[in-house]
Amino acid sequence: MTSSLSQVLSRVRPSATIAASTRAGELRREGHDIVSLSAGEPDFDTPDFIVAAAMKALGEGKTRYAPAGGIPELREAIARKLKRDNATDLPPSCVAVTCGAKQAIYNALVASLNPGDEVIVPAPYWVSYPDMATLAGGTPVIVETKEEDGFLLTPEALEEALSANTRWLVLNSPSNPTGAVYGKEALQALGEVIARHKRAGVISDEIYEHLVYSNAGGAGGADDVSFVSFVEACPQLLERTLVVNGVSKAFAMTGWRIGYAAGEATLIKGMNVLQSQSASSATTFCQWAAVAALDSDMAFFAPMLKAFRERRDFTVQALNAVPGLSCAVPQGAFYVFPSCAELVGLKTEQGKRIEDDQALCLYALEQAGVAMVHGAAFGASPYLRCSYACKMEQLEEATTRLTKAFAMLS
Ligand code: PMP
Ligand code: GLU
Repeated sequence: MTSSLSQVLSRVRPSATIAASTRAGELRREGHDIVSLSAGEPDFDTPDFIVAAAMKALGEGKTRYAPAGGIPELREAIARKLKRDNATDLPPSCVAVTCGAKQAIYNALVASLNPGDEVIVPAPYWVSYPDMATLAGGTPVIVETKEEDGFLLTPEALEEALSANTRWLVLNSPSNPTGAVYGKEALQALGEVIARHKRAGVISDEIYEHLVYSNAGGAGGADDVSFVSFVEACPQLLERTLVVNGVSKAFAMTGWRIGYAAGEATLIKGMNVLQSQSASSATTFCQWAAVAALDSDMAFFAPMLKAFRERRDFTVQALNAVPGLSCAVPQGAFYVFPSCAELVGLKTEQGKRIEDDQALCLYALEQAGVAMVHGAAFGASPYLRCSYACKMEQLEEATTRLTKAFAMLS
């Protein structure tokens, strides 16, 4: 029997972030001493009150199918959250609950794209956006941003990338992998450009909303940016914006798989049709846990944010001290994205040339047991993505090992 996969799958790469953390886990299970800076998930446990809400739901028999778009109680909690935190006033009928924020983006693209439709993705981008656009039958249009612009998309570059075929701009602030955060004025400048192109909308991926180190006075000086939701900056574009968010990051709930999208009614209905013919719904008792999460006062979060900030400050200064690496201070999320340009082209002790950032990642894994993700997977080379969502001792160990391993390159 011939194995036949769909044609579209031949144009899609496996997720490099998932691949890197899976590989680190496999190597550990085989007995290797691996320090992983590859995982894009908090190392904290889900707060007890959220676990308790899930247990309560299980005890009450909330174990059956949920409506495709999510249980009404969660859609209401999301609508409350968007109004309270993000100046976004949408009814619960304009909210779709999904299996993680990832599925919200995927479902939105599948529900809205036709062949020839373009999706503008600023690079460095989260690995999944271009491939999801391809899977959905659209065409990703990658727009490079510059390190000297803080990896932020400029209105000029956006204008140049827009065409009559543009369906979406995907914005991610704070950004995975750079940690860049768009301020209100930067969003408004982009919004003005989008407003002139009537067919184009914005998918605003706000999954790292709470992970912003504003006014923290970090390693590289004062952080002056705070999180602003795209709709709050550009209320006139409410009908053309799909807000994507979820509980994975701030509530340490990556494995619960609850995310959501909120936006224009027809698109949300389309996403729900798609959900009804695929996953059916996100897991019912996890949705009840998400209600508790979103309605909480987030008192648990301050120590987490403090820990992330300390780790960020440590990681930035430690990576800048590693020979051949250099990075700016990211203002949000939990990633540092150092350039490794000085190391590409060097040779290992065995005489093997480090051709690119992927080769450097492999060298770091094999020589030092440090797992990271190569910048090329995020559309920017030569860079490394290091997640600092791990214990301080691991960060210390990783940077010590990298210093030793990279010093051996010549
Ligand atoms: N967007 C970005 C930028 C992310 O880094 C992630 C990480 N998984 C997601 C979306 C998806 O989040 P979730 O786990 O809720 O699917
Ligand atoms: N978003 C995280 C990361 O970038 C988790 C893995 C994934 O979904 O890509 O590492």
